[in-house]
Amino acid sequence: MTEVLATVTNLRKWLGARRAAGARIGFVPTMGALHDGHTSLMRRAASECDVAVASVFVNPLQFGPSEDLASYPRDLDRDVRLAGEAGVQMVFAPSVEEMYRGQRVLTTVAVAEISAPMEGASRPTHFAGVSTVVAKLFNLFGPCRAYFGEKDWQQLCVVRRMTSDLSFPVDVVGCPTVREADGLAMSSRNVYLDATQRAAAPVLRRALVAGAEAVTAGERDAAAVRSVMVAVVAGEPVVELDYAEVVDAATLAPVDPLAGELRLLIAARVGQPRLIDNIGVTVPVPS
Ligand code: AMP
Repeated sequence: MTEVLATVTNLRKWLGARRAAGARIGFVPTMGALHDGHTSLMRRAASECDVAVASVFVNPLQFGPSEDLASYPRDLDRDVRLAGEAGVQMVFAPSVEEMYRGQRVLTTVAVAEISAPMEGASRPTHFAGVSTVVAKLFNLFGPCRAYFGEKDWQQLCVVRRMTSDLSFPVDVVGCPTVREADGLAMSSRNVYLDATQRAAAPVLRRALVAGAEAVTAGERDAAAVRSVMVAVVAGEPVVELDYAEVVDAATLAPVDPLAGELRLLIAARVGQPRLIDNIGVTVPVPS
């Protein structure tokens, strides 16, 4: 039976008892509306750790004023059932009041540079909201392995760097993106897509694959790789491209000519929902 805890006091008691018994904790932070992408992280946490735990918290700090905080899909009973089936023993599901104690949050954890381009440019307050809540969750959960999806590649880079810069006693584990059969990355926001938009949305994945293939075929000019991705997306008129980039996989800095571990990242509006995806490619550095 998966336990659901809503208070920090009960969370600390629950984890303290497991740690006293020597358990290694695997932690999966989420905003709920769980799908197979989330449960893949939970299954991995359960397989690698003695105790797998998750959080379900729709964090207001990471939503911009015109974003979908109020309408973000919420179904805690379903989330707890799916988490339990994936091997999670406890779900921490606090209210906003419990997390932020009814106070305005005056303290912000912000990761410079890595947070600035791409998602950071389009959603200026987003990553400060993410890094602040993840720092808070790491403080609440304590030493653990924490599982994050590569689907949100820039977020994974931000969290890794924050964890290292601030010496959190947490091992951050990146996990592969889980996709629908047609290549669309699973996302809680896919439920907003109507039939036409849903049929068009896999173009993001196709654009990334075409960009990565161009690199593999020898293209070393970042602008040319971006053009390949832009041309593929242009084939789907309902998809409005936000950005298509190829950058250093860890620092997210521009690389030209292309060399080393690279990441291609893309974001687009498909009707109202804004979808993101990414793919890795390596250009061997000549020795
Ligand atoms: P979210 O609830 O959207 O904040 O996501 C919680 C965690 O699940 C984050 O680490 C995401 O990167 C991860 N995640 C979301 N979608 C996927 C997916 N399709 N495949 C793998 N991980 C995912």
